[in-house]
Amino acid sequence: MVAAVAANCVIGVDIGGTKMAVGVVDESLGVLHRIQQASDGEDATELLDRLTAMVDEAIEAAPGEVLGVGFGVAGILDAKTGMIAASPHLPLVGVPFEALMGERLGVPVAVDNDGNTSMLAEWLHGAAKGASDAVMLTVGTGIGGGIVANGELVRGSSGGGAEFGHMVVDQDGERCSCGGVGHYEWYASGDAIGRAGQLAAVEHPDSALAEAAAAGREITGSLVTEFGHDGDAASVEAIVKVGQRLGQGMVSIANIFNPQLIVVGGGAIAAGDLLLDPAREIVEREALASLGTNVSVVPAQFGADAGVIGAAVLALEQPAAA
Ligand SMILES: [Zn+2]
Repeated sequence: MVAAVAANCVIGVDIGGTKMAVGVVDESLGVLHRIQQASDGEDATELLDRLTAMVDEAIEAAPGEVLGVGFGVAGILDAKTGMIAASPHLPLVGVPFEALMGERLGVPVAVDNDGNTSMLAEWLHGAAKGASDAVMLTVGTGIGGGIVANGELVRGSSGGGAEFGHMVVDQDGERCSCGGVGHYEWYASGDAIGRAGQLAAVEHPDSALAEAAAAGREITGSLVTEFGHDGDAASVEAIVKVGQRLGQGMVSIANIFNPQLIVVGGGAIAAGDLLLDPAREIVEREALASLGTNVSVVPAQFGADAGVIGAAVLALEQPAAA
């Protein structure tokens, strides 16, 4: 067998609300080189400058020809204009992102919402491979999402779908980071696990959570998850509560889309079946008869590199890069 030389690759860029990750990705989706920086507290020009520098560094580090650069952005894209129409965490609203980055980088550029890029990667290469109908939920700070229906990725009329995190689940509920009221992500995200953990720490003064809070540690979703895996009952209770809320949203999703799979990714999936089992129970019990039993709720295949790999798959799927 002849050793592969200078394999083609793409650059995947994950632009989240708090961090930017850039990776050199080969055609079998191996991440060869990673660069990561914080993305907070900057204006658009500064952010674009830093992104350009990171991607240039990645192109330098690539072992072969770079076919294109894919960006998964935590924001709502307008597919017609290539503009970022809304983003609660990034100073990029109204920026013609695709055109600007294409000009700066001099290679084919593709941009999509990070929920859609995650769905694309899981559908073409991961947990939803071969499914005709699937829904992705990326459960982290908020909840992002993507939809595959009838064998196609569905982005809506202007490319802004699928923002499952902003489904209204309680019209008298809490105010969401987007300004709306009672949205799904308030109750069922990774941040929601942190909030449920803070309540559980107060209700269970003998728990590991209460001890950590008393010692001044911040009760975050990941800390609650860590304690939950260690068997702290208060932490498990907090995760179960959020898992049930996650499941309630999935009941609507199952009833509307009748998917074969609901794939759950994002940071909160670190909780594993502690989070998914309560969700599965609710879906099976509460979705309309056959719709609840026909759907499987599964963890995403791509873990910590999911954002970068999703963006890379987007670049690989571009006709210009083929
Ligand atoms: Zn919202």
